[in-house]
Amino acid sequence: MFRKVIIFFLLCQENNVLCIIPLCSYVTNGVHYLQPFISGDDQHIPLYTGCKPVNSEFNITDTNCDLAVSNKIYLPDSLKSAGENQLQSILKHYKSMNITLIELWPTLGAFGFYTWVYARIFHDETHWIWLNSSSIEFSSTVDSPLNESEYPAPYLPQLLIKSNANDHFEIFTDILSLPSLYMKNVFGDCLWTSANYTNSLNRPQLTKIYSGWLPLEKMNEIDQDLNHNICVVLPQPFRVNGKPYSLFINIKQNNSFQWPSNISWYTIPSPSSNDILKTKPVSDVWYNDLQWPKTFADEWKSNMYRLTGMQPLQYENKTEIYLTRKSSIQTDNQLMNLIDYLIEQYNKLNIQTEKQIFYWRNITQANLIVYIPARGSYRCDEPVVFIDHIDTAFEEDTFDDTGKRRSTPGADDNVSGLIALLQSAAILNKTQENACRDIWLVHVTGEEYPAASLGISHFLQQLFIKKQPIYTAVIVDMIGHRVNRSDPIVQVNAGDTTKSLLVAELAVNYVYPRIKNHLILQNLRPVLRRWSDPFAYLYNTDGVRFVEYGFNCLLFNEHINYHENFEREGYHDTFDTVNLIDFEYGQTVSQYAIATVAMLSHAECRSESCWKEANLVLIAGLSLFLSILYAM
Ligand SMILES: [Zn+2]
Repeated sequence: MFRKVIIFFLLCQENNVLCIIPLCSYVTNGVHYLQPFISGDDQHIPLYTGCKPVNSEFNITDTNCDLAVSNKIYLPDSLKSAGENQLQSILKHYKSMNITLIELWPTLGAFGFYTWVYARIFHDETHWIWLNSSSIEFSSTVDSPLNESEYPAPYLPQLLIKSNANDHFEIFTDILSLPSLYMKNVFGDCLWTSANYTNSLNRPQLTKIYSGWLPLEKMNEIDQDLNHNICVVLPQPFRVNGKPYSLFINIKQNNSFQWPSNISWYTIPSPSSNDILKTKPVSDVWYNDLQWPKTFADEWKSNMYRLTGMQPLQYENKTEIYLTRKSSIQTDNQLMNLIDYLIEQYNKLNIQTEKQIFYWRNITQANLIVYIPARGSYRCDEPVVFIDHIDTAFEEDTFDDTGKRRSTPGADDNVSGLIALLQSAAILNKTQENACRDIWLVHVTGEEYPAASLGISHFLQQLFIKKQPIYTAVIVDMIGHRVNRSDPIVQVNAGDTTKSLLVAELAVNYVYPRIKNHLILQNLRPVLRRWSDPFAYLYNTDGVRFVEYGFNCLLFNEHINYHENFEREGYHDTFDTVNLIDFEYGQTVSQYAIATVAMLSHAECRSESCWKEANLVLIAGLSLFLSILYAM
């Protein structure tokens, strides 16, 4: 069968019914993360396998990135069992038909699990049929699988016809006109075909498929175009070493199938004890330099009142504002005022800041980067990046009752994280005395819908453009609320790399025991949540972007995830106020995250990308001496 496919490819000509052009060849947006469209969910991001953006942009190789063996496909192990289970349901449905090929590719599902996109099947060895999502039943499909008999939901094509008013609305309508706070139009996920394509079910397909997965800038052009009649909604094909790719599975007469032999299934290895030892700071200096100001708790509390708009922000020029509009999509949002206030606070500490300005929907947006340089004798290139988000969600209850989009005070989500960063500056400024890695505090905008990871996408794009790798990101998002106030759990969620696991491991088993007795609450219990853990929460934060691009990252958050405390009051509604905050818990998780950042800026100071500062001085001195000598 494989041979036959190769022959098909060789025979491939225009209008040849036996011609197989893989759907990945209709991808136009090669390196999507460098393109100007940057809002999170405008388009399903492709799953990067092999060499991920981090590998290709920073020239970093690792175990699953091997440019020398270009046809090897590395896929997470969980995709194998999910695929086999899903394929069985599909084949059962089509068992009376003569199916010889299925075109499919992997993707990341909405709840943080890898799953498959099943695009089309090759029938009677003559023509393609889109898989019909309405008639296939998948067994044990759930959003967030808890055990080995459950699988994440697959994606199948949905056909939307432009001439149908409802379908047109779904494809092209502006986010602010949609009936849900979490919907987006599907334009970015459209693969375009002409109208007669739908009639081709069970008949040879002779019409053209046009390009798909277009950037949003093309929306008006496609809306006007008479040939682009049908949008086939599918998450776009995955990338192998950066190149768009789709897979073909051969179906044998007895309906059995085999995976292509060039797939290599992997699980992310846990760090070895030797790796952990090599990463750990060589001394306790990070810990000895770590001091909690006596005012830490009081300041945390007053910051909470000010930054949720209960009390005014007071500027140095004596003006005052109350924060009430904190969504990035509000044209009159106050996020710039908030950033200006933060800059004043950092200026008091003589700490350098940079407003990272960009535009979205003609609204000026900004992230704020705060630089706390290392001052130890060793220095490394990659900074530790400490991240919160400063925007807040729209209130679901207000929207349901009135249809109005009003941003929440966001006490927990995410003023709690914002305060952790703000108060970390003075503390980390001290611990940086002997550190080898710079710390960047990054206040990002637009994490919440409908911006959906807008700010972080811009920040990461700039890292790629400037060729600036980072060591790891530490994210804080929702760290101030407990449903049950005796619940000791703090979630330490790791990204999908061995280094992320290692860093999480150090946070739980090294940092926490070391600092425990000096924290405001001393009875908390950090739990490590791997990326594939159904109780992890990273998928629902900016952390997902780090995972998709291949960065190392770690998220601290309260005890919330898909299966626990998810439906609680005070999440994205009018109740996310100061009244709901568990102050001591929020203060303690802040301390924990700050201590972890302090430790990480002392980690692996002798690795390849590091150098000894004294040597540089010596070299500089020597060359000065030589040049003086030469001048004489
Ligand atoms: Zn949040």
